[in-house]
Amino acid sequence: MKIVMLPALCLWLVSAVSGLAQQTPQSLADAELPSLLTIYKDLHSHPELSTKEQRSAEIVAKELRATGCDVTENFGKYDKSGSKCYGVVGVMKNGAGATVLVRTEMDALPVQEQTGALYASKITMTAVDGKQVPVMHACGHDIHMAALIGTARLLSRLKDSWHGTIIFIGQPAEEAVGGAYAMLNAGLYDRFGKPDYALALHDDAEIEAGKIGISEGYTQANVDSVDVTVKGIGGHGAYPHKVKDPIVLSAEIINAWQTIASRENNPLDPVVVTVGSILGGTKHNIIPDEVKMQLTVRTYKPEVRRRVLAAIDRIAKGCATAAGLPPDKMPEVNVLKGEALNATYNNPELTKRVTAALKSAIGDKNVIHKDPIMAADDFSDFSLPDHSVPACMFHVGAVDPANAAESKKTGASLPSLHSSKFLPVPEPTLRTAVIGMSSAVVDLTKK
Ligand SMILES: [Zn+2]
Ligand SMILES: [Zn+2]
Repeated sequence: MKIVMLPALCLWLVSAVSGLAQQTPQSLADAELPSLLTIYKDLHSHPELSTKEQRSAEIVAKELRATGCDVTENFGKYDKSGSKCYGVVGVMKNGAGATVLVRTEMDALPVQEQTGALYASKITMTAVDGKQVPVMHACGHDIHMAALIGTARLLSRLKDSWHGTIIFIGQPAEEAVGGAYAMLNAGLYDRFGKPDYALALHDDAEIEAGKIGISEGYTQANVDSVDVTVKGIGGHGAYPHKVKDPIVLSAEIINAWQTIASRENNPLDPVVVTVGSILGGTKHNIIPDEVKMQLTVRTYKPEVRRRVLAAIDRIAKGCATAAGLPPDKMPEVNVLKGEALNATYNNPELTKRVTAALKSAIGDKNVIHKDPIMAADDFSDFSLPDHSVPACMFHVGAVDPANAAESKKTGASLPSLHSSKFLPVPEPTLRTAVIGMSSAVVDLTKK
């Protein structure tokens, strides 16, 4: 009997020990991957525009609930639009300890998908202006949602390794701006507690799948949208001496604005002033009464932001004065409050910790430096304006390594985020995202 039992006992021991050994983010991610890929492909085929993320939010909520999270749906309040807010909050409790917020965006873009994928989107939706538009997950928020679900599944299985509280956030309206604010505006931190750390990931259209890019300090910019109306005194195009031409004046103002970055600013502080739209006049031979412009202004530091916005106003009015316009015809410069975004600041201490955790999870050589960019993300809102919630966003490579190598060799550019041809390589991207985020959270809350 003993002789018969011994091998059985040994077998049980071996499987128990190997079962324990398997409880790592890597092996758990491998086990979850088939199911996560199914969820990802379903989300990719069913993208939803900003503020209309009902189906995606329901999936995120259902999957978080299945991992044992206490889930609150439809959380958030938009300032103006009056739309229902589809914010999802899933709280996973595991005793006393640090609170970590992990965020995914849920919205897609008005883009006609041209990836040729079997699971490509054929969806159209009604946009804010009433037009029917094609919709696509062209920024990879579908990967982010699947990664959040995967992270929750892993953390629910790794409860022996960490303690504390994880707040999973399904955030609507990142592309349209305002989703993070809507959730904070509805009292996110009053109701669920102010986190000790906030983490997010974004897929990356230049880094090869299997790698993660990260850097400390400012990584994404403040964004301000500015409307400018340049006034003139219109008249016949043949009699310039009888008018004040707002088109020539606008041209001068645009050139003078470019001296803000080159002549007024410390060259070590990034500044972008882009005039993205200029509209004036109706016909060849009429000098109009006004020209309207729309600007996007990008900066990092708050003091640089204030100075650049003040310079835009000062230069516009100074040029108008030099052109001889009277005080009642000064340009109107309007910084749009509802469209401003704060810079993303990767807290250096937290980022060092996250980088170390990522390196031990996916290997030193797979964690690389990612240069900061002048794009923006309202993930910064979760850090609060005073950055009192240390935050860190890292970038998960989504490019087929063969394509990345080819692009390096030939210089041909790869489809960027928001391109109709951008498609992450699903499996390695999602696997790296899930392992990376789970390992970072476990490190911040480890026993
Ligand atoms: Zn985007
Ligand atoms: Zn995005």
